[in-house]
Amino acid sequence: MTASLNAVMLEEVDGKPKAAFKTLSTADLPDHEVLVEVAYSTVNYKDGLALTGKGKIARKLPMVCGVDLAGTVLESRSPDWKPGDRVVVNGWNLSETEWGGYIQQQRVKPEWLVRVPEAFTLAESMAIGTAGYTAMLAVLALEHAGLKPDGRPDGRPDGREVLVTGAAGGVGSIAVSVLAKLGYRVTASTGRPETHDYLKSLGAHTIIERGALTEKGLPLQREHWAGAVDSVGGQTLANVIAQTARHGAIAVCGLAGGSDLPASVFPFILRGVALVGVDSVQATRSQREEAWRRLALDLDKTRLDAMTTIEPLSKVFELAEAIVRGQVRGRTVIDVRK
Ligand code: NDP
Repeated sequence: MTASLNAVMLEEVDGKPKAAFKTLSTADLPDHEVLVEVAYSTVNYKDGLALTGKGKIARKLPMVCGVDLAGTVLESRSPDWKPGDRVVVNGWNLSETEWGGYIQQQRVKPEWLVRVPEAFTLAESMAIGTAGYTAMLAVLALEHAGLKPDGRPDGRPDGREVLVTGAAGGVGSIAVSVLAKLGYRVTASTGRPETHDYLKSLGAHTIIERGALTEKGLPLQREHWAGAVDSVGGQTLANVIAQTARHGAIAVCGLAGGSDLPASVFPFILRGVALVGVDSVQATRSQREEAWRRLALDLDKTRLDAMTTIEPLSKVFELAEAIVRGQVRGRTVIDVRK
């Protein structure tokens, strides 16, 4: 049956991409095997870049925006999914080359779908969204590199000390909560003093000012961190690398502060520091399922609720402006039905 669908779409206007509200029908959707009734999407930093035009995210037009979606399967030509299944899609080039989640129904490929864990409602799965699932991929990457809350791989005793940069943002908030629940002593770096109480409520033990990490520093500094989750990049990441302790690891997630990396090789060759990249977009199905399984175990739902705001699709443009200005705290869920 054909339905009339509210969407946010990027189209070429006077030679430039421009995002606007559009009405589409089911017949306009791509011919993928699974039709999902979308309930929620989110606003990630990347969505902010796409909607404001501050970053070139879409690589073909017209494009339905929205990196994430969560909803219920309506129709399926795949044996893996049936009507009524609760599903989530994160990444897979949604909003880049594939139509995304800012619409009330979407057709997607079966291999993009992950089952929403029993522990989460659809809204909670989008409160996690790409940012939260990326934070969990980062924690898994640190664990893979040997990080444990009870000591470093080499047995040194201070393995609990971890740093999260861009802590009051989406990736940062979930990383702080998960690491605190796992037993780490989390230092949260933020540029917003008004978020200190919030970060403590998520489990941060210590808060440091963002500015403490933005000045150019020596290539090797005093060893502080057994591990770190960084969503800032640039000089901040260079300082984090220089302050990471012997055999520690840093999961590199983002570039909210810059895409360059003005660092030296010394921390790697003299301290054995590991720099691990996190790619949420093309993560394998098993990595995704593992991340969602661990989120169900290791993310405190009360803290998730405390960091989440639910907003209607009609407000998505102002929310996009706010996230690229670094003004969004925690996670924003978009109710695409409103
Ligand atoms: P948010 O905007 O929610 O969080 C980013 C945070 O970074 C802000 O809240 C702010 O934290 C801090 N920040 C912002 N601007 C600056 C600046 N100029 N200098 C230093 N810190 C700054 O975004 P998300 O959490 O959604 O995404 C974070 C980053 O991770 C983005 O770069 C995004 O593109 C990337 N990302 C990467 C993924 C991957 O697969 N690798 C997946 C998802 C996101 P505070 O106010 O606390 O200082």
